[in-house]
Amino acid sequence: MKPTLMRPVGLPASSSTPVVTPLMPSVVYASDTPDGLDAQYEGRVAGYTYAREGHPNADVLARRIDALEGCEGGIVTGSGMAAVSAALLGLCKAGDHVVGGDQLYGRSLRMMKDDLPRLGIATSLADPTDVAAFAAAFRPETRLALIEVVSNPTLRIADLDGIAALCRERGVLLVVDNTFTTPTAIRPFERGADVVLHSVTKLLSGHSDVMLGWIAAQDERLSKQLYDFVVTTGMTPSPFDCWLAERGLMSFDLRFERAQATARTLGDFLAGQAGVTRVLYPTRDDHPDRARAQSVLRGMGGNMLSFELEGGRAAANAFTVAASGVAFAPTLGDVGTTLSHPASSSHRALTPEARAAIGISEGFFRVSVGLEAPDALIATIKDGLRAARAAK
Ligand SMILES: *Cc1c(COP(=O)(O)O)cnc(C)c1O
Repeated sequence: MKPTLMRPVGLPASSSTPVVTPLMPSVVYASDTPDGLDAQYEGRVAGYTYAREGHPNADVLARRIDALEGCEGGIVTGSGMAAVSAALLGLCKAGDHVVGGDQLYGRSLRMMKDDLPRLGIATSLADPTDVAAFAAAFRPETRLALIEVVSNPTLRIADLDGIAALCRERGVLLVVDNTFTTPTAIRPFERGADVVLHSVTKLLSGHSDVMLGWIAAQDERLSKQLYDFVVTTGMTPSPFDCWLAERGLMSFDLRFERAQATARTLGDFLAGQAGVTRVLYPTRDDHPDRARAQSVLRGMGGNMLSFELEGGRAAANAFTVAASGVAFAPTLGDVGTTLSHPASSSHRALTPEARAAIGISEGFFRVSVGLEAPDALIATIKDGLRAARAAK
């Protein structure tokens, strides 16, 4: 039956309520009267008007991530890079200077190197594991510092407390990208961050079927500035993606616990194998920042692990073919284990010498450990190692 008037007929009456958040794709919301709309825009009553400015599925997801990070007023964005862009472009102006960690996510580095300078915002990169080196990059006009606590792909751990103290002393905003570490390991607001952001695409959603981000500031003025920038630039997420992400988030803590336990087991297994020259996992005794894994990450190594094969590119090619039980795909935080090869993906723009300087060779892999049974995962990795040894 086609209604003669194009208004919704309303939902059937029900004295019970759904146990799952309803999906609300409506872009526009009808108000009662112009007075009512005034009341809404002036914040005297709650209500939605236009989905770019906010919609129920984004707000429900934001409140759940807020609870994990121990904050209020987080904003969901259309991708993790939208959240990074909101922090850098929404809070800085021409003439400002930004300091970033030297091993940030690839596109964050690209924004630091290309986009901010084009807009008159100067940038410097510095090593966040060394607070003196990081401090040396600060200038009088430094407005903001952006760090990730665990670096990709060598898993070095930033001196979060040292950098937070430095930023406080210099009046610089500290922005922490908590994607890798997650609020289970660190709640950056409790350690002095002014702004925290996530690629929700990764561990929080966990199923590689949505792209979303989240960003929050505890200071009300900064939070409003971020919200207006997100709405004006159209970084708004889709209701369906938010709905899927909420579903994924329900199992985040269990997924993280399981993946982390398996990552530790896999690290110990790899360290004893012929043809493996190096294993990087934050809580291992041979990790350069193991003390910080205790103080900053509360002993949580996370689900990410890196290792190096003997035999260079030939061994790497043989490994990805033979370890067919894991996807060779440059993402992280999925339910399935994924393998990434930085020399041919995230770090391909660097010269071999520049890669070598940060410890990335042709035999270097990063593993995002998923939820497989550990024995099955180790069996497919064993197949890969056998083939890599034969190929070199
Ligand atoms: C993936 C990622 C991003 C970007 O997120 P998208 O959702 O892919 O846009 C930013 N920071 C880190 C640490 C990431 O891993």
